Amino acid sequence: MASETVNAALAILDRTVMGIDGDNRSGQQRLTSAIAQSIDQGCHLMAQAPTGSGKSLAYLAPIVASGVRAVVATATLALQDQLWRNDIPMVAEFSGQTVTSALLKGRSNYLCLARLDGTNTEAALFDERPGPTFSDDLITLKNFAEVSSTGDVGDLEELIAPESWRALTCGPNECPGANKCAQGVDCFAERARSQAELANIIVVNHALYSAHLATGGRLLPPHDLVVIDEAHAFDAVATNALGAEISPGGLRQLGSRLRRAGATARHADAVISGSGRLEDILSQITGRINPIPVDLAEVLAGTSEAVANASASIKAKESALAAQAVKLSLTRLDALRRMQAPDQGEVLWVEGDKRRSLRLAPVSIGKRLVPLLFSQTPVVLISATLGSGERFSPLAQRLGLNPNVECVPVGERSLARKVGLPDEEEMSSEDEDGFTLVAPEVSEIGYEALSIESPFDLEKQGLLYVARHLPDVREPEWAEAAADELCSLVAAAGGRTLVLCTSWKGVGMFSEVLEKRTNHKILTQGEETTVRLVEQFSSDETSCLVATRAFWQGLDIPGPACVLVVIDRLPFSRPDDPLEQARREAAVAAGGDGFREIDLPAAALVLAQGTGRLIRTHKDRGVVAVLDRRLAVANYRSVLLTTMPAFARSVDLLEVKAFLATAST
Ligand code: SF4
Repeated sequence: MASETVNAALAILDRTVMGIDGDNRSGQQRLTSAIAQSIDQGCHLMAQAPTGSGKSLAYLAPIVASGVRAVVATATLALQDQLWRNDIPMVAEFSGQTVTSALLKGRSNYLCLARLDGTNTEAALFDERPGPTFSDDLITLKNFAEVSSTGDVGDLEELIAPESWRALTCGPNECPGANKCAQGVDCFAERARSQAELANIIVVNHALYSAHLATGGRLLPPHDLVVIDEAHAFDAVATNALGAEISPGGLRQLGSRLRRAGATARHADAVISGSGRLEDILSQITGRINPIPVDLAEVLAGTSEAVANASASIKAKESALAAQAVKLSLTRLDALRRMQAPDQGEVLWVEGDKRRSLRLAPVSIGKRLVPLLFSQTPVVLISATLGSGERFSPLAQRLGLNPNVECVPVGERSLARKVGLPDEEEMSSEDEDGFTLVAPEVSEIGYEALSIESPFDLEKQGLLYVARHLPDVREPEWAEAAADELCSLVAAAGGRTLVLCTSWKGVGMFSEVLEKRTNHKILTQGEETTVRLVEQFSSDETSCLVATRAFWQGLDIPGPACVLVVIDRLPFSRPDDPLEQARREAAVAAGGDGFREIDLPAAALVLAQGTGRLIRTHKDRGVVAVLDRRLAVANYRSVLLTTMPAFARSVDLLEVKAFLATAST
């Protein structure tokens, strides 16, 4: 029998859908019920809700009906904006209940009054050389500070240079906290945080939620539920937040900032010379570091000591500049110390080419998320695409959930631990795709899973074309044959094409080919801002956009401007990617298969995201063309194909051209 929360949530959903003149969708109702049950039972839920299914209303209705305090974390600004400006006010209006909400961003999105104040005094010397517009930007920001109630860069109507903004905001690792800051009482970021304390729905992004987890839960108010929307992208952001990064440039800036803040010159200079030595060493290393070379270990230890000494030598710690320098020193010290002796479950590597940095990350993000997240708070992980496997097992395992374990309410699990009840029996099995579901150090955390159907007629609206006749992508002949195929497809579509490449090399190559061999306007990632590119692609209906990874997800171009999505290769991660390499090794060490457990599910998720750019509304029709024949012939193809939207399929170019002729009119 449905619980009170389920009934109340469905009633709110119904009133909201009627209020906006929308359609009742059975999938949306099932999702609402499942989320309401998760709230009632305190269980984790993984829910796949395709584009157009109305997933945000489906989780807002149960949150409002149950009265819990929930954090909603999104990957993209677009979704954050949609929730804040449309969906939450809509549900509030039609629910008949009082809904309090807050939009909370990372600290560097707010103007820092201490920095602004510092422009009159000692902090006028910035880490970066101010740009030519700095004086004008400063006047704009001083006016903004007077009139704005938020201090949020998103509310700033005038355009200012990014470096001017960076000079006058305060990163999360620099702010000493309101009680140590002379501007703490008026601080915009602190005000936003206080408003969040009073709200029952708090909207944040994945980065802020991950930073909250990394600080042991100190950034956000206590909450009863977290909804992680666009959950397919969460593990990468959480991996960054729970890792660490040190760059020679960052250390150099810290040294000069410590000097300006009053540190003894000898100690501050030692930090700067440590950064120079680190730069030299990193220029000679590529990829993964294991074991740590003696010279690198010495530089890390020496620089740690220099940072600690320089920070301790600041006598007057109360100025904003000093307080921020001391806070930043603590953050850098923590990273330097972690890098000197990485845990067994961490991987250390050199990232970048010209500007190199040292990165540290947990091999298994799941092992970190279990104690920090899943043992603490019920979580709803929701996305249009949660990837392959029954119950989305690869992504679930990556995040620290166990597909073979029944969901135990979060509160009860903690209680069982406290009273010393035995843990659940460990299980080991394979799912239908042959993935080993349980690693030796298996998570005990179970979850519910739900996949709702697309509201679109995907088989009629979309066609998946695999260019099976092309040479293998690893053959030298592929590039020319793929270029011919692309031009032929673009001609059939009349432009209106989004080309998604797996590398910048592909972007350059296909963009050049289309420029030379077609008359369409060719937009290329990197030549304009993302916003400008998307605007031009949407408004010029015969243009083509050539882009790489950032455009594979979150891009929403409904209508005739995008009737063809071309994918150059299957999006496998690079074999020499240090983190993925370490993950593969861990899978093999646990008796599994690195390719099937790590590479294939990750590629399936990205491929499904890329394919999902095509059909955005009931009216859209079009083709996804994959120029990599492995999708038609490789023995692992079914894992990829079953994760993609259920379009009709073809390997016949003539059939595709006929379909495009009807789609692009
Ligand atoms: S507390 Fe002070 S230093 Fe921190 S962001 Fe606010 S104004 Fe800036």
